Amino acid sequence: MTATMMDGAALAARIRSDVKAEVAELGEIGLATVLVGDDPASEIYIRRKHKAAEEVGIRALDRRLPAETSESELLELVGELNEDDSIDGILVQTPLPPQLDEARIMRTIDPVKDVDGLHPFNAGQLYLGHQTLVPATPLGVMTLLDEYRIPLAGQQAVVLGRSPLVGKPVAMLLLQANATVTMCHSRTADLARQTLAADVLVVAVGHSGLVTADMVKQGAAVVDVGITRTEAGLVGDVDPGVAEIAAFLTPVPGGVGPMTIACLLGNAVRAARYRRGALAFPRV
Ligand code: NAP
Repeated sequence: MTATMMDGAALAARIRSDVKAEVAELGEIGLATVLVGDDPASEIYIRRKHKAAEEVGIRALDRRLPAETSESELLELVGELNEDDSIDGILVQTPLPPQLDEARIMRTIDPVKDVDGLHPFNAGQLYLGHQTLVPATPLGVMTLLDEYRIPLAGQQAVVLGRSPLVGKPVAMLLLQANATVTMCHSRTADLARQTLAADVLVVAVGHSGLVTADMVKQGAAVVDVGITRTEAGLVGDVDPGVAEIAAFLTPVPGGVGPMTIACLLGNAVRAARYRRGALAFPRV
């Protein structure tokens, strides 16, 4: 079997064009990004997000602070963006320098502007099955699975990785779609025993080549979220040999990466709709 490659780049382009039409209808939308320090990978991500935002007509505000910024300085900036009526979405790029408490910063973002879905209110809504703003990468994974009509209800889904940004929310969304979900992590014993049971396997670890062909069930759908920079370019967590066993596989690059950016723009539009009362945000 040679897997069908799930073309995230093409689907993301369609989503961006839908978002562009929605932005034109809604009027000005403001998305603020906050970058603390000069992590080169974070700089690349911020640049990509700004370019994508501008292409669909979203006004992107680029706020940067030095690596030695104190927690109170960052909290002050988040507070200022919360108060700024022209800003619909706020994204604080992670990882943050070690002196900053990431969870505390996320708790400070106004939940209705929390386009990364990391505020406990939005994370809790997802946990309860009443999703509001959901992290963009998991949304991108689910949108790709939907596009390729991958069955989820009643299927075995296995997620590798349990971060609040990817693994946990993707597991919650799969559960909501009625899959039977297993979550694996660095302490999982006998990873292959779990992955071999997966009809749908989502891999979000950050170890290139972690998942090899002998760990995958024949005919499975495999979504590779991982990104590792090598001299040869970007590689995922899934060995290319998996394409001979799986029925569907996402490429890296060109799979989940572009979907993440497209879904982030979608979240900015969703936040703008909440703020304009076009969608009800459950405050109480
Ligand atoms: P993270 O916060 O570092 O989490 C990695 C997860 O992998 C942790 O839960 C860890 O388990 C687990 N893990 C580590 N070694 C493992 C092993 N041998 N077997 C099974 N699980 C293992 O990373 P993240 O933010 O979720 O990102 C994961 C990857 O996705 C990274 O490569 C990142 O660059 C990429 N990413 C891509 C996109 C995109 O748009 N394509 C977006 C976000 C992230 P413990 O919890 O036990 O430590």
